[in-house]
Amino acid sequence: MALFAMRTLGVATGMPRHGRGFQTEAMNEFEFTVPILIVGGGACGAVAALAAHDAGISPLIIEQDARPMGTTSMSQGLFCAAGTRSQAEHGVHDDGATFLADIMAKTKGQTDPVIARAIAFGSGPTLEWLQDRHAMPWALDTGFRPAYGNSTFRVHGWQGHGGKDMIELLHQRLAEAGIDVLTQARLTEIIAGSDGRVRGVVIERPGGVQERVGCETLVIASGGFAANHEMVARFMPEAAQARYNGWEGNRGDGIVLGEKLGAAIADMGSYQGYAMLTEPQGISVPPGAIIEGGIIVNIHGKRFVDESFDIAGMAHPVMAQPGDHCWVIIDAGIEEACAYIPEMRDLIALKAARQADSVEALAGMLGLDAATLAAELAEARAAQAAGTPDRFGRVWGEDLPPAPPFRAFKVVGAIYHTQGGLQIDGQARVLRPDGSALPNVFAGGGAARGVSGPSSWGYLPAMGLCAAVTLGRIAGETAAQQLGGTPVVGMPSA
Ligand SMILES: Cc1cc2nc3c(=O)[nH]c(=O)nc-3n(C[C@H](O)[C@H](O)[C@H](O)COP(=O)(O)OP(=O)(O)OC[C@H]3O[C@@H](n4cnc5c(N)ncnc54)[C@H](O)[C@@H]3O)c2cc1C
Repeated sequence: MALFAMRTLGVATGMPRHGRGFQTEAMNEFEFTVPILIVGGGACGAVAALAAHDAGISPLIIEQDARPMGTTSMSQGLFCAAGTRSQAEHGVHDDGATFLADIMAKTKGQTDPVIARAIAFGSGPTLEWLQDRHAMPWALDTGFRPAYGNSTFRVHGWQGHGGKDMIELLHQRLAEAGIDVLTQARLTEIIAGSDGRVRGVVIERPGGVQERVGCETLVIASGGFAANHEMVARFMPEAAQARYNGWEGNRGDGIVLGEKLGAAIADMGSYQGYAMLTEPQGISVPPGAIIEGGIIVNIHGKRFVDESFDIAGMAHPVMAQPGDHCWVIIDAGIEEACAYIPEMRDLIALKAARQADSVEALAGMLGLDAATLAAELAEARAAQAAGTPDRFGRVWGEDLPPAPPFRAFKVVGAIYHTQGGLQIDGQARVLRPDGSALPNVFAGGGAARGVSGPSSWGYLPAMGLCAAVTLGRIAGETAAQQLGGTPVVGMPSA
């Protein structure tokens, strides 16, 4: 599919000035000056740019890569939003207060309630603005049933499409809006006055050439730091040896430079792990495989956890098992129910699943103890039939544990994305340790503190993109408002 129609700029020198003629004393220092400079062309940066543009101020995105993809392109393109029309069309009752309660419960109250509130109440209006003004084809994913801490159907996406299509379509919308994206431009330095007001940045271009770009406001949307091994070892040592399945550009540049500017950082030990990265394909078994009734066993055929309890923290029990992998076991019916999901389609196309018609055949094929595996499946079936939690506390409800014909995926646990970063307020303004806001710096997405608590257990499904899209919109609007723009969505009343 040829979705990609990006409006990119190859060179900075000689570019037209943007916006309303912002002349400052610093102007002569810079190649050119823009009102809003957005660092990073992932979901957060792209949405921030659309929001600023709609508010009447023209932004510029700088992106280190030749083609903006980011973590967003690796994702399933699914994100939470509460109180949407799409939910209502499916008879789902949800609102910001319910979403906020779910975030606080999942994080055991250990997240920033101000950011959580902004995201919980801002997500639905953000999604609908992007649907209405920018024709983003998002709708409730009715296959993603309430699970892992979301108390209701809340996950939205573009059915049949993943994160790659999402980012390409967002950049098509940027091009249609006439928003410039300066590619191969890596932020290496932020230039600020003694009052903390940012005046511009230094960017590195191909060949190591350095250029200086002035800005009236700065939005940091450069993603997380999971590819920065030194930072991972420092802030989340328990994940330092984990497989990394995220974007290689996630070095935490924006977080490090923001901190140098005087910003506070928070929840730096927070991250999104994942327990079901297929080996050797490197494709995620979608969460639906568990939601529909799949189980995970170790190399002895033993279950070891309630697989439906924690989408991100599950990586740890999987990594703690003997050997170097586990098995996700589903059946043909579960595979069929998930076949609309791009990752499952890819796994089917690659014939990644081992297939067997009996427990004995499956165990033989995977090298598991057949009696152990049979006992695990029998216990799960008995718990489901009795309507009682199994010995791990898994409540099966209507979901049936796998039955012949079986499918099995070899999986490893991995770290996908970090969730801590620059401390912001509910308007995405970057804060200092004393709680005061830096004068003209905003952040969102992986670069900012998210709402997943301090560690790996507080991540609700589809919160990474929710934070990127919602905080991106808020950051773009707040930056524009500071320059006289008029936000389209604004701050929804709680
Ligand atoms: C395999 C996988 C699956 C996932 N699935 C989901 C999902 O379905 N739902 C969900 O909610 N979350 C998911 N996530 C998490 C989600 O993808 C991220 O939370 C989200 O994409 C973050 O968006 P972002 O815009 O902040 O960062 P990114 O998309 O990473 O964008 C940041 C951009 O900044 C650029 N950049 C970085 N440093 C610089 C610099 N110094 N100068 C210039 N540019 C720079 C990068 O190149 C990149 O383009 C998944 C993550 C992974 C790895």
